[in-house]
Amino acid sequence: MIIAIDGPAASGKGTLGKRLAAHYKLRHLDTGLLYRAVAKALLDAGHPPSDRARAIAAAQAIDPARFDEAALKQYEVGEAASVVSAIPEVRAALFNLQQEFAAAPPGAVLDGRDIGTVICPNAEVKIFVTASAEQRARRRTLELQGRGERADEAAVLADILARDQRDRSRAAAPLLQAADAHLLDTTHLDIDAAFRAAVAIVEAARAG
Ligand code: C5P
Repeated sequence: MIIAIDGPAASGKGTLGKRLAAHYKLRHLDTGLLYRAVAKALLDAGHPPSDRARAIAAAQAIDPARFDEAALKQYEVGEAASVVSAIPEVRAALFNLQQEFAAAPPGAVLDGRDIGTVICPNAEVKIFVTASAEQRARRRTLELQGRGERADEAAVLADILARDQRDRSRAAAPLLQAADAHLLDTTHLDIDAAFRAAVAIVEAARAG
């Protein structure tokens, strides 16, 4: 079984993906980490994320086995990731890796922006996770503060709105709800309630 989860920044799709994978004993790929790794390679070398040639080279050299997830989850890396992810050749360089991950038995949960539309259009279950921008900003601010990072909620909200706009309006694989994806709005759900709702979607899809 392949479960495709898409949604905007801080919608809770990563946490849901992890929990669904554990529940159904599937492997899990947070595809945002791939774009974050490309962005971090550029930032670490002192290059702007808009440097196309270097971003493409970094995407071609990516090695998920060496990912330092905590470092990749840093705030500024996410912002830079949404710049490199708009470069079509960067997306192309990361395409096979994602498809091969999804295809290997016993199946997988992938979360990102274009999983149901581009990477796994034939996934058995597609879930589009969303929440109001204000709620997502609140959650992201608390998460950052919990990790000891400085975060101002108004600034986080402004960045989330800008990132949504970039991810939705880019020409290459924009953030989009697939026609056959189930919408899961977590604005008024805590993580346990969101997980139960996601399991109900998966069970309904499996039952046909
Ligand atoms: O989900 P996360 O915040 O880790 O993603 C970081 C950025 O990577 C997103 O803002 C988006 O621009 C990009 N991304 C993407 N396609 C994916 C996953 C992430 O374009 N499948």
